[in-house]
Amino acid sequence: MSFQPPKGTDDIIAPESQTWRETLRLWEDWSERYGYALISLPIFESTDLFERGVGETTEVVTKQMYTFADRGDRSVTLRPEGTAGAVRAYLNSGKQGVWKAAYSGPFFRYERPQAGRRRQFWQVGVEYLDTASPVADVEVIELGYRFITATGLSDVALLLNSIGDQVCRPAYVESLRRYLREREAQLSAEAVALIERNPLRVLDSKADADKLLDAPRTLDHLCADCADHLEAVKRGLETLGIPYKEDPALVRGLDYYTRTAFEYVATGLDTAQNAVGGGGRYDGLAEAIGGRPTPGVGFALGVDRIMLALGDPVRPHLDAYLVSETGPEEALRVASLLREAGIRVDFDVDGRSVKAQFRTARRLAAPVIVVWRGEGRLVDVQTESERAELPLEEVSSWFSRE
Ligand code: AMP
Repeated sequence: MSFQPPKGTDDIIAPESQTWRETLRLWEDWSERYGYALISLPIFESTDLFERGVGETTEVVTKQMYTFADRGDRSVTLRPEGTAGAVRAYLNSGKQGVWKAAYSGPFFRYERPQAGRRRQFWQVGVEYLDTASPVADVEVIELGYRFITATGLSDVALLLNSIGDQVCRPAYVESLRRYLREREAQLSAEAVALIERNPLRVLDSKADADKLLDAPRTLDHLCADCADHLEAVKRGLETLGIPYKEDPALVRGLDYYTRTAFEYVATGLDTAQNAVGGGGRYDGLAEAIGGRPTPGVGFALGVDRIMLALGDPVRPHLDAYLVSETGPEEALRVASLLREAGIRVDFDVDGRSVKAQFRTARRLAAPVIVVWRGEGRLVDVQTESERAELPLEEVSSWFSRE
């Protein structure tokens, strides 16, 4: 075959795809449990939306967007993230008041591909709009934490910081800038280039992290309102028994990000891509894209990274494989009855030998094999460790007994 998937993209097929499917189902279940309605938004948007809504000085916008002119000569961009689109959708909808939305889908960034860093990747996320309450922050953080844990990932650390707001951040940014200027000689060229434009982003730089250990911290510069907000978030997490670690280096280098910033880290993964998700409050975003002031908080989780951390445990997509001794037409009818009873079952349509059907069952890792011998005969139900013969009507209760 001369065609390969494009660089940095993956074919997700069985058996690994079953773990994806179960994780995405779990996401639907958990996000719904916390009251988030589904949103399904365009995969491409006007380029301006991301320039303004993600920020012109960010790496995502300057280096990573898939931007092209469509046939009508409009500049469009494959979405690199979900928040700008979600806030745009809320503002366009004309709805008022709190709005809770959950999404799941592919996102695109022109990255240097490696494990856990793909050009097409899958994110699930939520946005909780039109509330400035710290309780919303806690609820959002809790949902992400509970969901990640429910996928089976146990070694997850939650990092928390506050990056202040329009009141306290300007003075902080000035003191950070002064500190960075004094150390220009030791910093990477990339960091130096950011000192004037966006010094907060220097703190984000992994290459310079060890030289910035004593950099001024946002936490020491918070105004009273931001400090109260952070205390309320911490109190909420403590009430819910969610462990967290304060991380002063966790920043979002954009003006409309305010107060709470957090990240979920899979401690078992390589440090270069161990963040399985992140989020925070973005009270200035709606105005940055031309809307009315609308505070909000949310997160995005990287499903590819969660899969990587889970190590792709193989879960069969079938409950059973039906082996028919009397050909595929009877198998079709019997499979239909089992499927109606909720059993995930498959069978051979090509009239292969019984031996070949058993081989297929093993290849598909079906945990149970159901052998159909013909009308009036008992059905043989087999697993690795047990075997039973029952009338067809009793097969579904045999499964629910499992
Ligand atoms: P971000 O929007 O950059 O905060 O990303 C949120 C989460 O999405 C990250 O913590 C990652 O888990 C995931 N993610 C971001 N970019 C990529 C990528 N290029 N490949 C795979 N996962 C990604």
